[in-house]
Amino acid sequence: MQAIRDVLDARRTGFRKGASPAFTHETLVRDIALEAERLSSFSLRRVINATGIVIHTNLGRASLSEHVMKNAAAIGQGYSNLEYDLGTGKRGKRHSHTWRILSWITGAEDAFIVNNNAAAVLLCLNTMARGREVIVSRGELVEIGGSFRVPDVMAASNAVLREVGTTNKTHLFDYERAINENTGLLLKVHQSNYKITGFTEDVGIQDLVSLGRKHGIPVMYDLGSGCLVDLKPYGIFTEPAVQEIVASGADIITFSGDKLLGGPQGGLIVGKQELLEKIRKNPLARALRTDKLTIAAFEATLREYLDEERAIRNIPVLHLLLQPQQEIHARAKRIEKGLKPVKGQAEVKVVRDSSKAGGGSLPEAEFPTYAVSVRPSKMTVHAFETRLRGSSPPVIARIREDALILDARTISDGEITAVVQIICGLLSDGQNPS
Ligand SMILES: *Cc1c(COP(=O)(O)O)cnc(C)c1O
Repeated sequence: MQAIRDVLDARRTGFRKGASPAFTHETLVRDIALEAERLSSFSLRRVINATGIVIHTNLGRASLSEHVMKNAAAIGQGYSNLEYDLGTGKRGKRHSHTWRILSWITGAEDAFIVNNNAAAVLLCLNTMARGREVIVSRGELVEIGGSFRVPDVMAASNAVLREVGTTNKTHLFDYERAINENTGLLLKVHQSNYKITGFTEDVGIQDLVSLGRKHGIPVMYDLGSGCLVDLKPYGIFTEPAVQEIVASGADIITFSGDKLLGGPQGGLIVGKQELLEKIRKNPLARALRTDKLTIAAFEATLREYLDEERAIRNIPVLHLLLQPQQEIHARAKRIEKGLKPVKGQAEVKVVRDSSKAGGGSLPEAEFPTYAVSVRPSKMTVHAFETRLRGSSPPVIARIREDALILDARTISDGEITAVVQIICGLLSDGQNPS
């Protein structure tokens, strides 16, 4: 019924605006059928990520393991002790389920999780520096994904931005000179999605902490991605582990739950207990709180980190980034082999390529990978890409020159059959256009 109404309304509006009434009974019926199909399927759907970008913000960032989702499902399907203390039978605290394990893993005194990292930064600034000045280096006034900009979040939190230094160089004395009786916070922001190279200098967190101590001003580090394992053994030197920053003595550290940590969407705040008490008491904390499904997924994800090897094996983000080359190659080969039947319709080959972490994480790191390059001969690569996106499930891949590149890093074993069937279907359709 809704589909009929929508299609007829659209036609009437069209007539009023002077559209020609050129339609037949058949086209009307076809449009209604298409609209009915659209209305009866979900808007938010699974897609196959063939981009190779592991933390793809537009495709939902971190994917979660079956084990983690089972825990979230079990909690969601029934009642839980979300805010109920099973020992006393009295009201409990929602954050009680995650603070202890987060403290264990990071070495911090206390921890708190809110809706996302932007919320974490907003809440911390508002608690520690409302109406006061926050000193930040000009080289760290970042924008992430268009909607999170340090100066805007600062304004929204009612803190006053006090920029110091220049784009390429900021010295410790720049911070020191800017300190006055109205300074509320020294803030360092991780240059997540860019790197300033050449004639540069920034102040390390350790020096900033010493300066803060000297003047009795708290120091906060917005780490952005927030990795809980040391990636140096894997050849990645640009992302400090959260544990290292905690050890530096920073008072408050914020990071995302769904970037390198590989959990659900969330903003993690770890640091000094005295400050976390204040942060939790801020009325904004209630507005930014996480729901039970998120908490359940976080608890299960964080437990994996109690054993680093298990974390790397079981957390999809870490596994996808650090998986051995030959596993990726084997999947690319399987896809190539599956596409044999459409050899006449496209040139198919396995190529070496490089994937990105994504999500503003590890901007400089290249992850060598294998991809399947498909160059259709009977339709344009753009038409091919559009059809792949419109398939069920949609397959998201990128175009390079006149070939479609399907990065096998982010295509799971279980998705290979679907990818092969969809591509074979599209290419054989293209052979005899009706
Ligand atoms: C990603 C990022 C944020 C925003 O985190 P969300 O979880 O997307 O809200 C804030 N600061 C930095 C440095 C980031 O990299």
